Amino acid sequence: MENKRLYSPSYIKEILNRHDFRFTKSLGQNFLIDGNIVRGIVENSGITEEDYILEIGPGIGTLTEELSLNAKRVVAIEIDESLEPVLEETLGDKSNIDIVFGDILKVDLKEIIDEKLNGGPVKVVANLPYYITTPIIGRLLEEELPLESITVMVQKEVGDRIISGPGTKDYSSLSVFINFYTEPEIVLHVPKSVFMPQPRVDSAVVKLNIKKDLPDIDRVKFFKVVKASFAMRRKTLLNCLSSGEFEMDKGEIKNLLEEIQIDPGIRAERLKVEDFIKISENIE
Ligand code: SAM
Repeated sequence: MENKRLYSPSYIKEILNRHDFRFTKSLGQNFLIDGNIVRGIVENSGITEEDYILEIGPGIGTLTEELSLNAKRVVAIEIDESLEPVLEETLGDKSNIDIVFGDILKVDLKEIIDEKLNGGPVKVVANLPYYITTPIIGRLLEEELPLESITVMVQKEVGDRIISGPGTKDYSSLSVFINFYTEPEIVLHVPKSVFMPQPRVDSAVVKLNIKKDLPDIDRVKFFKVVKASFAMRRKTLLNCLSSGEFEMDKGEIKNLLEEIQIDPGIRAERLKVEDFIKISENIE
C-alpha cells in the first residue's frame, strides 16, 4: 500500500524535527516533496516487479518507498548516518529494502550487487546529490557493473550536456563519455519548487540506456584523446592534440588526422564519438 505521507512537506518537517535532523547543504540534500515527480521518475525508469534496483541517497526514503512498491528489491546507499533513525521509521517495515550506510564513491558496488541484488542485472534510479553527479555516473559506467540503465535526477544544465550532440553549444567531453557507454534521453523536466529545501537550479531526469556491445578499444587512450580535444574549446583539434599529451609531434598528428580524413583545423565540438575512436586508434 502506498504511503502518501513521505512526500508531504509537513510530514517531512515533522519527522526531521522529531529526529533533530539538520539539512547538510554540502551533501546535496534536497528532498522531493511532490508525489507526481516521485511517481514520474519510477514510471520513466521502466522498472518491473522482477527488477533489482540500486538507489543513491535515499534521504528520508521517499523515492525508495515508491521503488520498493514497483520492483523486486532495492538497495539504497546513504552517506548521512544521522538519517538512520528516520529511515528506520519510514522504511523499517519494508522487507525488500536494504539501506547501506556509506559513500557511493567508495563502497564496493560489485560486492553489494553480488550479495544483495542477486548479482544483477541492476537498474539504477536516484535523485542524485548534485555536487558529485559526474563522479557518480563516471564510476557506474567505468566499472562495467552489470547495469541495464541509469535513471537519475540531475541539474538541468548537466542534463543538457549529457544529451547534446556534435555542433551544439552544450556538447562536451561529458557528452562524448556518456554517448560512448549509453544512449541517453531526458525523460522529465523538473522545476526547483518540488524540492525541500529549494535548490537554485531547475532539474531534469535523464535515462541512460547502457549499450551492450562497446567497441573493443583502449579506453584510457580514447578518453585521453577526448579530454585533450576539449581542453581548449577555441583551439583547433590539431592544436589541442599537440599540446604535449601524446608522443607524436605536431606534424605527425597532422598527417594522421589527414589520413583518417579528419580536418586538423576542425574544433572538437564538431566530432562524433566514432571520430574520437578513430583518432585514439591511430595516435601514439
Ligand atoms: N532520494 C531523496 C529524495 O529524493 O528526496 C534524497 C535525494 S538528495 C538530492 C541526495 C541524497 O544523497 C541525500 O540523502 C544525501 O545525504 C545523499 N548523499 C550525498 N552524498 C552522498 C554520497 N557520497 N554517497 C551516498 N549518498 C550521498
